[in-house]
Amino acid sequence: MILFKNARIWMGKGRIGSWMLVDQYVGKIMGCGVGEGPEETTGDVRDVKGRWILPGFHDSHIHASWHGKLLRSKWNLKFPKTVKELQLRLKDAIDGDDSKGWIEGFNWDHEFMDRIPTKEDIDEVIPDRPVFLNRVGFHIIVANSKALEVANITNDIEDPDNGHLDRYPVGHNLAGQLTGVLREDGGVQLVTDVVPPESSEEKKKNILAGLDDCLKYGITSVHSIERKHWNEYAELARDGLLPIACYIAPWYTDMGSANFPKSLDESYKNLSCDCIKVFLDGALGTNTAAISKPYLSLLDGKENYGVVLQNREQLVKILQMIDDKGYRPEMHVIGDRAVDIALDSLEKVKVSPNKRPVFVHCQILRHDLLNRMRTCGVTPTLQPSFVVTDSVWIRDKLPPALFECIYPWKTLMDNGIVCGGSSDGPVESINPMHGMFDAIFRTDQKSNSPFIPSECLTFEEALNLYTTGSAYVDKVETFKGKIAEGFQADLVVLDVPLDSDGVPLNLPENPQVLKDVKISEVWVAGKCMYKV
Ligand SMILES: [Zn+2]
Repeated sequence: MILFKNARIWMGKGRIGSWMLVDQYVGKIMGCGVGEGPEETTGDVRDVKGRWILPGFHDSHIHASWHGKLLRSKWNLKFPKTVKELQLRLKDAIDGDDSKGWIEGFNWDHEFMDRIPTKEDIDEVIPDRPVFLNRVGFHIIVANSKALEVANITNDIEDPDNGHLDRYPVGHNLAGQLTGVLREDGGVQLVTDVVPPESSEEKKKNILAGLDDCLKYGITSVHSIERKHWNEYAELARDGLLPIACYIAPWYTDMGSANFPKSLDESYKNLSCDCIKVFLDGALGTNTAAISKPYLSLLDGKENYGVVLQNREQLVKILQMIDDKGYRPEMHVIGDRAVDIALDSLEKVKVSPNKRPVFVHCQILRHDLLNRMRTCGVTPTLQPSFVVTDSVWIRDKLPPALFECIYPWKTLMDNGIVCGGSSDGPVESINPMHGMFDAIFRTDQKSNSPFIPSECLTFEEALNLYTTGSAYVDKVETFKGKIAEGFQADLVVLDVPLDSDGVPLNLPENPQVLKDVKISEVWVAGKCMYKV
C-alpha cells in the first residue's frame, strides 16, 4: 500500500481530500478523505507537501502516432509567418541531409501567412526530391513539382471526388495550371497514396514517442484515431510496452483489411478498440464544414454550404455495417448540417443509445439538434482550444444566424449530454491544462474577452471534460476518471504556483494559473510512470 498524505486531492463536486491510499498491486485507490487518514506502517508513506492531486487526464480525440511522428520529424516547419520563412526552414532542414526519397513536412497555416505556398516555392529550395507539406489539420497539402510528377498528377487532371486541386487564376502567367495545393481527402490522397508506407518499426517508434509525450502532460488514457497502425499497437501491447491506456478508433475505410482490430478484443494490456471513425464533413478553416446557412464568401461564384463526404444512403449503409459488426460509430461532424445527417442516419439504423455514438467536434449546432443528440445517446468529443484558434477568423466566415449555438460546450452539458475533452493533437497542444484553460476562458483573440461568455465552463466542468467525461466516452466511467474508492489509481500530482505565503494556490479558485501548472508525477494504475 502507498499512503499519500498532506495532499490536496480533487475528489469531485468541490470536495478536497488530504489523504489517499493506493494498492499498487491491484492498481486501485483503496480510500481517500479529509483529516489525518489511516495509520500506514507497512508500506510507503508519501508526504506530497501540499501539492494538488487530480485524476489522470483522458484525451478523447487525439492522433497519438501522428503526434509522435511530428515530434520525431525534422520537417516541422513551426508555423512560418511568410513563404520566405517557410523556404528558409526547408533549406535549414535539407542542408546536409543525405537521405533519399519522399519528404513529408508539417505545421504551416496560410491563415497566419502572407499567402498560401505553391509548388514553385518548394521547387526553389528542393527541386529534385518529392516533397509535400501538411497544413495544420491535415485537410490541405502543398506538393512540389517532383511530387506531382511521381504521383502522375498533370495539369489536365480533373478534380477528384471529395477533393479540390487549386489552379492559378485567370490573369496569372500560369493561369489554369496546378498550384500544388491539394484539398480534402480526395485531393490529399492523390499524393499520399503513392508515398511508400512506413515500416512497422517506424510506426512503433512514432506511437511510443506520442504516448510518452502524453504521459509527460499527465494524460493516462487516450482515445486515438489511427489508420493502419493496429498491428503495431497490438504488438506493443503484447510486449507490455504501452505506457498508458489506448482506445483506438480506426477509419471505416480500413474495415476488412488484415490490419484491422476486432471489436472489444480484451486480450491486450492497455489496448482496445470499439469505435469506427467516419468523416461526414470537412473543416471550418477551409470552408468545407457542412453548414445549413452559406459561408459569407462565395465559391466559384456560388453560395457555399460546405461539403458532405457521405450522402444519407451511403452513411446508412456504413452505420449498419459498423453496428452489425458490434462496433460503435464515431463521426467527424463540425457543421450543423453534418450533425443533422448523422442523427438522421443513427435514427434510421436504430443504433442503440447504449452504444453512445461519438460525434467528434460539434462546433456548430442548432437548438433543435440537442434533444435528438441526447435521445440517440450521442457523446460529443470537444476541443476547447479550437475556440481560441478559430476566433481570429470565424466571424468573417459564417453568417450571424449560425452563432446561436456555436462551440456550445456549456449548452451541451446543460442539456444533459456528457462530453469528452480533447486536443485533436497534433492539431492543437496536447497539454490538457491548456485545454481546460481554453474551456474556462474561451479567449477571443480579436477582442481579448471571452468568445460567447455564456458558454464558458467552470473549473470543475472543464476538469470533468478531461476526466469523467472522456471516461464516459470510452465506457470506462465506472472505474476511471475519478479519485474515489475502487477506482483505478490514475493520478497526476501537480506543482501549482505559490501564493504570497509560499503555499500552492487553490487551483479550482485560481484557474488563471492553469497554464503555469507543472506536472510533478504521473501515476498509471498505481504505478509512478513519470516523475520530474
Ligand atoms: Zn482529429
